[in-house]
Amino acid sequence: MGELALVLNSGSSSLKFAVFRAVAGDDWPLLVRGNIQGIGTAPQMSAHDQDGAALSIPPATQVRDAQSALTHVLGWLRSRFAAADLFAVGHRVVHGGPRHAGPALVTPEVLSELRALVPFAPLHQPYNLAAIEAAAQQRPGVPQVACFDTSFHRSLPAVARLVPLPAALGEKGLQRYGFHGLSYEYIASVLPRVAPQIAAGRVIVAHLGSGASMCALRAGVSVENSFGFTALDGLCMGTRPGSVDPGVILYLFQGLGMSAKEVETLLYKKSGLLGISGLSNDMRELERSETAGARLAVDYFLYRAAQEIGALCAVLGGIDGLVFTAGIGENSPYVRRRICQACAWLGIELDEAANQAGATRISTAASAASVWVIPTNEELMIARHTGRLLAADGAARRQRTGSP
Ligand code: AMP
Repeated sequence: MGELALVLNSGSSSLKFAVFRAVAGDDWPLLVRGNIQGIGTAPQMSAHDQDGAALSIPPATQVRDAQSALTHVLGWLRSRFAAADLFAVGHRVVHGGPRHAGPALVTPEVLSELRALVPFAPLHQPYNLAAIEAAAQQRPGVPQVACFDTSFHRSLPAVARLVPLPAALGEKGLQRYGFHGLSYEYIASVLPRVAPQIAAGRVIVAHLGSGASMCALRAGVSVENSFGFTALDGLCMGTRPGSVDPGVILYLFQGLGMSAKEVETLLYKKSGLLGISGLSNDMRELERSETAGARLAVDYFLYRAAQEIGALCAVLGGIDGLVFTAGIGENSPYVRRRICQACAWLGIELDEAANQAGATRISTAASAASVWVIPTNEELMIARHTGRLLAADGAARRQRTGSP
C-alpha cells in the first residue's frame, strides 16, 4: 500500500483537493490543501502546505474541465511527492440516495447508481461524478471511495425523513435526506475531545458558510437538520433562499411564466444574501456595507438562523451546546454575537471577549448552554472514511481468499 490519500471535492467551476499521509489512527496529517477556481473561464490554482504557507504552483491556463483540472493537480503533486504512492482517492459526493448509509468503494455499479441520482442534485452530483471518472482514467487501479453528504443523516427518524406528499411519491425517492453530513460527522467526532461536557447531550451545530444549515445532534447522532430533499431548504444562504413557501415556486411558473431552467438558476444562484442585498453573497462584504439591502440581507440571515435554533431545540427538547462552524461560523464574531443574543431566552450568555478572540468556548460559565467555535474539516473526514473502508475491504478480501 502506498502512503498518500488524495481527497477531491469537485464543483461546477472548482476543484478542491487535499493530500493526507495515511498513518495509524484517525488523525492523518495534512500535507497540502489547494484548489483550482474558475474552471471554464479563468482558471487559477492555489495551494498551501500543512502550516498554511502558500506554495508556488504552475499556472493553470490549460485547465478547461474536470479532466484537465485533475491532470494539472496530479502532475503538480507528482513533482512535489516524487517518492510517494497514491493509495486511494476519496471523493465528496453530495448525494448517496436512499441506499448509501456510509461511504462506498466506487465500482461500475455504484457509479451508475450515483448517476441515477443526478436529478436529485443537478448542480453538484454531475461534477462530483466527473471527478471520479477523471481519476479512474488517470489512475486506473487506485481505489476510489465516494463519501456522501447524506449518509450521516440516515439516523433521522421516519417522521423527520418525510416529505408530506402522497406516499407513492416517497417510493420515488422524495424524502428529506439532509446535507453537510461530512461536516457534522467531523464535528460529532471531535466533540468528545474538544467539548466533552456536551458530547453526550443535545447539541445544535450551525454550519454557516456559502451553504448554510444546522444539525441537531443527540449524543453525536443526527436527529434533524435544516436541509430537506435538496440543499435548497432551510437557512438563508449565499445565493440560495432556504425555505420558501412552495406557492411562490408555483407562482414563478404559472404567474410569471418562468422556465424550469430560469427557476433553477434563480433558486441556486441568484437568491439568498446575494438576491436580498443586490450586492454580494459574501458575508464579509455585507458586514462592511452600509446599504439598506446589505443590512436587510444580514438581518434575514440572522433571523432565520435564530428561528431554526428554536425549531431544533423543540426537536431535541432543549439544548446543552451550540457549535458554530464553517466560513461565517468560524470567522464572524458579529454573526455569532447576534445569534447568541437572539438565543438569550434559552439562557445562552456569550463571553464577548472570548467571542472576539475566536476562542474555542465563547459562552460564560453561567450560560445555561455552552457555545463553541470548532473549525470543520470535511476533507479529513473523507480521508478517514477512505482509509477505514479500504482497511475493512482488504480484511474482508483476505478472509474470503484465506490469505494472510
Ligand atoms: P465557506 O463556504 O465555509 O468557505 O464560507 C464562505 C463564507 O464565509 C463567505 O460568505 C465568507 O464571506 C464568509 N467569511 C469568511 N471569513 C469571514 C469573516 N472574517 N467574517 C465574516 N464572514 C466570513
